[in-house]
Amino acid sequence: MKRIEHIIAGHRTPGISASVSPVYNPATGEQTGTVCMGTAEDVAAAVAAAKEALPDWAGTPPAKRARVMFRLREILEARKDDVARAISEEHGKTHDDALGEVARALEVVEYAAGIPELLKGDYSRDVGPGIDTMADRQALGVVAGITPFNFPAMVPLWMIPMAVACGNTFILKPSERDPSSANLVHDLFAEAGLPAGVLNVVHGGKDAVDAVLDHGDIQAVSFVGSTPIAEYVYTRGCAAGKRVQALGGAKNHMVILPDADMDQAADALMGAGFGSAGERCMAISVAVPVGQETADKLVKKLAPRVSALKIGPATDPQAEMGPVITRAAQERIESLISKGAEEGARVVVDGRGLRLQGYEGGFWVGGTLLDHVTPEMTVYREEIFGPVLSVLRADSYDSAVDLINKHQYGNGTAIFTRDGDAARDFAARIQVGMVGINVPIPVPVAYHSFGGWKRSIFGAHGIYGPEAVHFYTRLKTVTSRWPTGIRAGAQFTFPSH
Ligand code: NAD
Repeated sequence: MKRIEHIIAGHRTPGISASVSPVYNPATGEQTGTVCMGTAEDVAAAVAAAKEALPDWAGTPPAKRARVMFRLREILEARKDDVARAISEEHGKTHDDALGEVARALEVVEYAAGIPELLKGDYSRDVGPGIDTMADRQALGVVAGITPFNFPAMVPLWMIPMAVACGNTFILKPSERDPSSANLVHDLFAEAGLPAGVLNVVHGGKDAVDAVLDHGDIQAVSFVGSTPIAEYVYTRGCAAGKRVQALGGAKNHMVILPDADMDQAADALMGAGFGSAGERCMAISVAVPVGQETADKLVKKLAPRVSALKIGPATDPQAEMGPVITRAAQERIESLISKGAEEGARVVVDGRGLRLQGYEGGFWVGGTLLDHVTPEMTVYREEIFGPVLSVLRADSYDSAVDLINKHQYGNGTAIFTRDGDAARDFAARIQVGMVGINVPIPVPVAYHSFGGWKRSIFGAHGIYGPEAVHFYTRLKTVTSRWPTGIRAGAQFTFPSH
């Protein structure tokens, strides 16, 4: 059985605590390893390593830091199957889906390779007599990232390339449920030439997170995970004087107007609702057809598709969807489906109790379709984070917009229509951070930034893209005078010119 250790200053270490947590293969339900659970002492050791590496790394010219990203890009491309396998073994997603995760991570590495351009400052000559002003952005120092289970390679790679390209050193606290990918990411960075100590990995749960939040030498924390923990991380991190961005959970709606192509909408809902077993923060979990006729047509198209979903382990190339992450997640999702039925939703396709031959111990939940869901129901209010698609029938376009705007989450949303006016109005009025028009999962590319609204984000900055440059640096403005013959004498009024 493998043991997943911390990596501090380039060395693997079990840390000082004997505490470990089990790691499973979700397709079989078998324990495949243990992960070391970090303590405050382990975090302190990682911070010490990151502090030691900082002066040299921050002093390395941006173009040289960029070269690490160029090499990492090539290594990731060459090793993408290995990374995808590492993801799937502990997360359970299909190999193709894991490859998609690697591809999106690669885009961030490519963007970070342009860091000399991104860090270029501003310069104004003659802001006053003989006075020039230069503004540039400098690294913060030691920064940290805390990441969720659902993208065990991509979310760390949303953060690390931009943070280290900006000249910071980094401590990653990955999800304890699928921790191996983080160590592989570390090793690929090392192979690309990132000096030891610039990236450190401390595994663990709440103890490690609290130690990160409280440590006085960590300047900034990026968090991605569920909303209650995002809010906690934001509050505690800010109280400790850190810069914090904390991205939380979601309930993403897709509005289907009567003029939409129903087959296209149904296909989009299948991929966005059930890809990765619904364990994506940008998964569509609520379909909002407008009008009863649209709803009937849509449900008629969806039901056979959901029933026919090919569910299997990542080793099955035919599989469209894998298991969920843990037995606890499986039980929680099944109990939420039951709650939906109790509260009056119609269970059109029921994924509870799925058993797969040869994989009887796996954490399976079949694709589930709930119709006649209402805003009061638990299945609508809570993020299920599983392969469950709810259909909430709206009377009108305006009531669909209202519904979405009233929801506590505002991560992603989509509208399917041929009506340009409606689409334009939707994009303007909807209280959601990422909007798709006939695009079900509008995850921004790496040169834009990712971030929701409302309780899907705490803090001012989106993640990766231009916002990351702002988050991982601070502004310095230098105003200089080289007086040749200017003798203004002492001035006691506020400087002006
Ligand atoms: P999670 O909140 O349980 O865990 C995220 C991180 O927080 C992990 O590293 C975990 O170890 C740590 N953590 C867990 N409990 C903690 C506690 N009590 N105190 C301190 N730290 C704690 O999230 P998850 O289940 O791993 O991931 C799924 C969630 O992440 C979903 O809600 C999903 O929507 C969200 N997510 C959001 C985005 C986004 O960009 N908005 C992206 C991916 C996932």
